[in-house]
Amino acid sequence: MMRFGTGFGVGAILITHMHADHFIGVIGLVRTLGLQGREETLHLCGPPGSSGVLDRAVHLGMDRIRFPVEIREVEPGERIPRPGYEVEVFPVKHGTSAVGYAIREPQRLGRFDVERVRALGVPEGPLFGRIHRGEAVEVAGRTIHPEEVVGPPRPGRSVVYTGDTRPAESVVEAARGADLLIHDCTFAGSDARRARETFHSTAGEAAGVARKAGALRLALTHLSARYSDLPEVLEREARKRFPDSIVARDGLTLDLPFLDEGGTEP
Ligand SMILES: [Zn+2]
Ligand SMILES: [Zn+2]
Repeated sequence: MMRFGTGFGVGAILITHMHADHFIGVIGLVRTLGLQGREETLHLCGPPGSSGVLDRAVHLGMDRIRFPVEIREVEPGERIPRPGYEVEVFPVKHGTSAVGYAIREPQRLGRFDVERVRALGVPEGPLFGRIHRGEAVEVAGRTIHPEEVVGPPRPGRSVVYTGDTRPAESVVEAARGADLLIHDCTFAGSDARRARETFHSTAGEAAGVARKAGALRLALTHLSARYSDLPEVLEREARKRFPDSIVARDGLTLDLPFLDEGGTEP
């Protein structure tokens, strides 16, 4: 976050479950943000039952934090409004209180056919916006209906993050048509039993979820240390079931273009 310059701007942190590898970094982050003179509220969301541990973690060894930290437990099914997007909380299967998060943009207005609007004699200006937003307007004695020049509403983008989980129907539901699914991939297929026992997923299982959900891309994450030198093994395994799979690494950034604006259909 600091490398990308987004550390100071972070507004909310979504925590999937209370295993140490998923929240311990918050302790250092809160200190760093305090030292940097942060003043804005930091929102911390965690699964049911998490607020006590989160509160202790945030205040560990600190007399006082100089900026407000708001800790809040979220419930599966809840939708959290955020500026420009919404976070949907969904249940996952990790043998403990755990949730995943789907980040969704709102639906966008349909495509506006500028050429056609001009050809119909509409003068450039505020009328363009009114028609685009669905209003019928009168121009030179003729009514122009929005459906003549505006396409159907276009879906916003969505990114779905599972945290640690077994493959689950609730994840398939949450990831329907997602632009990006970020899924637990702790093991290879050869360790399928271990994956079951520890409530994690194999590469093939993650790929199966992405495929069933009709997601557009899959990023595999949370690899067991035993694969740290051979991520391509997991990538290959996943691609057999879901070709648009990649293994995520620290600092990776992905562009998610709107499909109707130069993106390619899968
Ligand atoms: Zn875990
Ligand atoms: Zn974990």
